[in-house]
Amino acid sequence: MPTVVIVGAGAAGLWAAAVAARRGAEVLVLEKTPRAGTKILASGGTRCNLTTTLGPREAARLFGREGEAFLRPAFDALSPADVRAHVERLGVPTVVEPELEKVFPRSQRAVDVRDALLEDAEGAGARIRYRAGVRELRREGSGFRVVAENGEVVADRVILAAGGRSYARTGTTGDGYAWLRGLGLRVVPPVPALVPLLSDAEWVRELTGIALPHVEARLLDPADRLIARRRRPVLFTHLGLSGPGAMDLSAPVARAAMSGPTTGWKVALDLLPDVGMDALRDRLSDASRQGGGPTLARALGETDLPARILAAACAQAGLPANPRLHEVPRKLRNRLVDALKGLRVPISGTLGFDHAEVTAGGLALDEVDPTTCEVRSVPGLYVVGELLDLDGVIGGLSFQAAFATAELAARHASR
Ligand SMILES: Cc1cc2nc3c(=O)[nH]c(=O)nc-3n(C[C@H](O)[C@H](O)[C@H](O)COP(=O)(O)OP(=O)(O)OC[C@H]3O[C@@H](n4cnc5c(N)ncnc54)[C@H](O)[C@@H]3O)c2cc1C
Repeated sequence: MPTVVIVGAGAAGLWAAAVAARRGAEVLVLEKTPRAGTKILASGGTRCNLTTTLGPREAARLFGREGEAFLRPAFDALSPADVRAHVERLGVPTVVEPELEKVFPRSQRAVDVRDALLEDAEGAGARIRYRAGVRELRREGSGFRVVAENGEVVADRVILAAGGRSYARTGTTGDGYAWLRGLGLRVVPPVPALVPLLSDAEWVRELTGIALPHVEARLLDPADRLIARRRRPVLFTHLGLSGPGAMDLSAPVARAAMSGPTTGWKVALDLLPDVGMDALRDRLSDASRQGGGPTLARALGETDLPARILAAACAQAGLPANPRLHEVPRKLRNRLVDALKGLRVPISGTLGFDHAEVTAGGLALDEVDPTTCEVRSVPGLYVVGELLDLDGVIGGLSFQAAFATAELAARHASR
């Protein structure tokens, strides 16, 4: 049976260790920090959103076109339902937050998930060496020499699961990229993703604390082209926009920021995503003809939109807060409709790697066989999890990708 060295005892490393050891491989995990699964412990506000209720195809689609094509075999091999079932088999019952398709442990304790995965790996026979930061990876004969802080090991196969470079305080400092480049492999420049967005507009800061649970956020580039859209809650903060709806749009902003200031980038918030543009125009037009001169708030009827947000939309249209609609000429009414269906928030960047839930960029997907996660030009070397050029959206998708790629690599590496 082959000896398999796994670098990193995070989500993907623990999963791969259990699968490879169960299949009879001799497995050694080298972990830089004194503990396993630190990001699992921090995840989902320490509740760990471990996967999604979406099916494998729908889940893969959330990684963009290239990501979807790459992840299909992995999600077919280990679907979100398989992840959930396995974690339940390990003794961690789960619950669903249906509106956002999220799966959590019933205990709402991330530590239960981490402990279960760790016990699974160790119970299957994998050994974990802590404080064993890997410094170098060399090919040696048909295998590898792995140089760690406290010694060297040789291995027939190596699974790299060292993660990205976000939240460096959890141990992920982007070490894997240098090893991959050293092997002549293409690494797509890493950028922070799933991270809050910055805005330097004063009026945005004044809305701090306002949460908009039912909006659609659209990311527009300086030429007003639609880059991405997401219907998820958005939160105004003293720095800009947070919440899944904003964070899900952050990777293109971070990429743009690499080549200079992000002047002209904005998020357009559709405050009434269930009401069509024409229907809203008609509604405001009808209201403007009614006696009594109803205000904007009256005309909108049942809405959970805070008055301050409506006032911001009015200001963007050049109107006072909550105007009486019979006093608003048609041209301005149309501007108001535009602002309600696309309140424009200027974006000046992201909060960066320190606050990013994941790293976008990483080992280019065309370097890797998607059916095995083996590097095409380096037989015996597998790359999994966040170290790959994969980034999805918030909702358990990052763990799903980490577990599924780990599953494929471990099955193949243990043969
Ligand atoms: C605050 C926060 C909340 C999150 N919440 C969620 C969530 O609810 N749901 C979700 O799906 N995703 C969530 N994520 C993202 C998710 O945690 C990661 O995508 C996932 O952990 C990636 O798994 P991985 O195994 O590739 O990397 P990691 O889990 O980051 O593991 C990498 C491991 O490699 C080790 N390592 C690094 N360098 C070396 C080295 N040189 N030698 C040895 N070991 C090394 C690290 O110490 C670490 O233990 C969250 C992330 C953060 C930061």
